[in-house]
Parts: sequence; C-alpha cells; structure tokens
Amino acid sequence: MSQTRSFARSALAAGYADAGDDAFPIPAGTAATVDEILDWAETHGDDEHLIEATLILGRVTGAWAVIFNRRARLSSEYIAAATAAAAALAAELPLRQIIADMERRRAARTEAVDPVAAGAAAAQILPLLRQSSPQARSALRDAIHQALVEAGAEGRTDAWALLSATRPGAGVVAVNWDIQFRQAVDALSQLGDLWAEADGWLADILDGLAGQLGGLLAAGMANGDSTADMISAAQDLLGAGGDATELIVDHAIATALSEGSLALYQSEGLAQVDFITAGDDRVDQECSDAEADSPYGVGDAPVPPLHFRCRCVLAPANLDPGSLDLAAEGDG
Ligand SMILES: [Zn+2]
Repeated sequence: MSQTRSFARSALAAGYADAGDDAFPIPAGTAATVDEILDWAETHGDDEHLIEATLILGRVTGAWAVIFNRRARLSSEYIAAATAAAAALAAELPLRQIIADMERRRAARTEAVDPVAAGAAAAQILPLLRQSSPQARSALRDAIHQALVEAGAEGRTDAWALLSATRPGAGVVAVNWDIQFRQAVDALSQLGDLWAEADGWLADILDGLAGQLGGLLAAGMANGDSTADMISAAQDLLGAGGDATELIVDHAIATALSEGSLALYQSEGLAQVDFITAGDDRVDQECSDAEADSPYGVGDAPVPPLHFRCRCVLAPANLDPGSLDLAAEGDG
C-alpha cells in the first residue's frame, strides 16, 4: 500500500466513524466504495487538500451506511407491525361461509364466466374485509400512519445528514441523527396530514389481501381441495398478514422516505439531485436508466420507488470523489 493510500485510508476511516454507531455493521457494497475512493486518492497524492477531501468522503460513506441501516430497521419494524395488524383484521373473515358461498355459486353456474375465478372470489372477500371491526381497522390504519410519519421523518433526516456530511464542521452528524429524527417525527405528527395517505395505503392493502385470498381459494376449489384444507391454507396465508401487505407497506415506506428527502432538499434550496440505485440485485433497468440520467433539478427527478421493493434514493448531486471540488473543500 502506498503512503498516500495509507494516509487516505486513515482519513476515510475517521470520517466514516463520524457518522456514528449506526454506520456499523458496515453494509455490503461499502468495500467497493472505499476502494473507489482510495483509488481516486492515489491519483491526487500531491494535492494539499487531499486529506480533508478524503475525510469528507469518509463522512459521506458513513452517512450512507447509517441511512442504509436505519432504513432497513424502520422498514422491518413497520412491516412487522402492519402485517400483525393485517393478520388480526383478516382473522375476522368468515372463511367457512366464504367457501360455502363460492361452492353455491359454482353449483348454480349458468353463465360462461367462472364464478369461482380468483377475481370473483376477491370481489366477494373485499367488502367483508372493509366491514371488519373498527378496532382491527384502526389498529392497521394507526400502524400505517406511524410508518408514514417515521419514514417521512427518516427521509428528511437522511437528506439532512447527506447535506451536512459535505459541510465544514460536519463532525456533529454523529450526535444529531436521533434529535433531527425526533423533531421531524413531532412536526409530521402534529401536521396530521398523512392520515389521508394512510387511508389510501390501507385500501390498497385490503385490495391486495382480497386478491391474494381470492386467488388461493379459487385455486383450491379448482383443485378439488376439501373445505378444511382450504381454510387451513387461508389461515396460513392470513396468519402471516399476507405477502401483499408486506409488499404494499414496504412501498408506502419507500414512498414516504423519498417524499421526506425531497421536502428537505426543497426547503434547503438544493439545486440538483442524483438518482442513486441500491446496487443490489433488485435494481431494474428503469432504475439504472434513471441513475445514468442524473443529475436532475430537484423538481424534475424521478421519485423512487419506481417498482415494488425498489431501494433507490435521491441524494444531493456530486457526492462522488470525481465531482468533489478539492480547493473549495479546503477553504472550510
Ligand atoms: Zn430502484
């Protein structure tokens, strides 16, 4: 290892540690970023601002790690809360009666359309889900609302941290993540305007559950399964809250994260953002293209998620080594 690389490595590690304990465990993919920065540093070995610049890149890398870890924690917490609430709501469904109705319709079948097709079954189940007890519905609604509040707050906090990491004296980032987050949660809770969005996601979840259960029962019936077998399969599906719930809550959280980040960038008067892909195997072509077309004006960027389970992020433009203005950073 060259001396420049060794110095740069120390500066990078110091900057990374500034991001705080949440930068650990170090996310997969960070090693590649670190190598990229060190390679870049070696080609700038004679620049007097190299160490400050590398420290800042370390802070940005650490901030990304914290963001990754905090978002993963937030998503899994609220997916667990929402799927549990959805399971409790779905447990009220009269499964035996639903299956008996499907069988009756099939026996009375006269028209060409199969009355036990998945779509017909879903159409029968959806109103029943909507008529679930007020307690069950409000528990799910509350879980979704709190997920939106916290994801919106996290999106703002993440955006703020990325902006702060590049500013002089950014070492304070480590202490302030939680304070910043709590303040944003309080502000968003008081606004109360996320309830309408929560109702929209709740409707999507009930639709998704009805579709999933309808598909399961229609398939069971076409297969000639016994009522007991179909009930047991339905209970397995609903007891876990349904895959549809998980997918939709994940999407709701990702949307609120992006909206929160954009709100912060707009209030800070940021000019340009980059669309950044997560670099994992869930990145699809649309996301790669959106990344390649970066940077965007803050109001013009495609807003992630672009598809289910999309992990892409909007970040301040020019946070990568090649774009960093060494002379300007050294003046701070
Ligand atoms: Zn994506």
